[in-house]
Amino acid sequence: MEQRFTIGNKTFVLDAAKAEAAFAAKKIINGRETMTFNLLPLKYKWAYDLYSKMKANHWEPEDIPMNKDIEQWRSDGILSEVERWIIRMGVGYFSAAEGIVGDNIFHVIREAVTAPELKLVLGRHVHEENIHADSLLYMISSLGLNPHECEAMFEGIETIVRKNEFVARTSRALRYDLDLRSTENKQLLAKNIFVFGQCMEGTQFYGLFGMILSLYRQNKFPGIGQMFRYTLRDESNHIEILRNLFMDLISENPEVWTASFREDCRQLMDEAVGLEKDFIHDCLPINAVGLSAEDFTQYIDYIADRRLEGVGLAPLKPGVSNPFPWLAEMMDIKKEQNFFEGRVTEYQKASSLASVDDDEL
Ligand code: MN
Ligand code: FE
Repeated sequence: MEQRFTIGNKTFVLDAAKAEAAFAAKKIINGRETMTFNLLPLKYKWAYDLYSKMKANHWEPEDIPMNKDIEQWRSDGILSEVERWIIRMGVGYFSAAEGIVGDNIFHVIREAVTAPELKLVLGRHVHEENIHADSLLYMISSLGLNPHECEAMFEGIETIVRKNEFVARTSRALRYDLDLRSTENKQLLAKNIFVFGQCMEGTQFYGLFGMILSLYRQNKFPGIGQMFRYTLRDESNHIEILRNLFMDLISENPEVWTASFREDCRQLMDEAVGLEKDFIHDCLPINAVGLSAEDFTQYIDYIADRRLEGVGLAPLKPGVSNPFPWLAEMMDIKKEQNFFEGRVTEYQKASSLASVDDDEL
């Protein structure tokens, strides 16, 4: 007996018995271990779909002109001290954070999952963190920032150190051949996926994203703003990968989803939100034009609750409103829609990067 499978516009004919056996052996964790990349038949279709979407979003830092940013950075009187500080904090924080995420995806999550289509999309995820790290080098070299000063920021600024410590804590112990048959270890992995996807990429990235896009909206740092918009578009796919992974891991291993596990996750988010609020106060020691620390901390509460709801957890501050509707628009978040589906803003690489400005702003 033969069975037909389609992936996009490709059709494959497989032996039905073999295909069924391969399908049944595919699991998020503890599935068949294989060195070969047997994608067929696809079990986690969302993983392949996201892989395709991410591929279509491909960008490179050098695609983005930096001449305006350089001109603004070098001129007197255009930028305030707070605006310069936000850019330094952005470069300083993300230089470390992109690497930390990529490292955890590669050494913890991609190691633990067994279905090849999951490894495929996680490989792309890691590569996108490489692109983001590379984009930061491009910003550092364009503005002529001192790389040692950037490094000193993530080693010396207390609120950055604490944010990094928070995520590293759930990552370190999971690197060495974790036996994923025990419920306790499954819960450790699920927490790692939750912390990296929903707390870090999903919430703790959004304070600076918001500030940099606020500047972009005032025509400050157009090149950096554009890079952060592409990064943000990538992050929304990363959050979705890790959300799907978390949900499927739990549906295949329902013993993970205990009341105390759920409460632990909410507490982790609460901790992440507290760290992010402290960080926001460091980024905005005084309010600048259009940038109030109070609005940004409320924004973090709003985002965090959307992330919790996205994985079926109760919000921490029910009813909190979004203080930046314009930012929601720019960030792909529409209240009336499913938070994670967002608006269709896939710009194919071929359709020229310049068109983003016309369509979006
Ligand atoms: Mn990233
Ligand atoms: Fe990411």
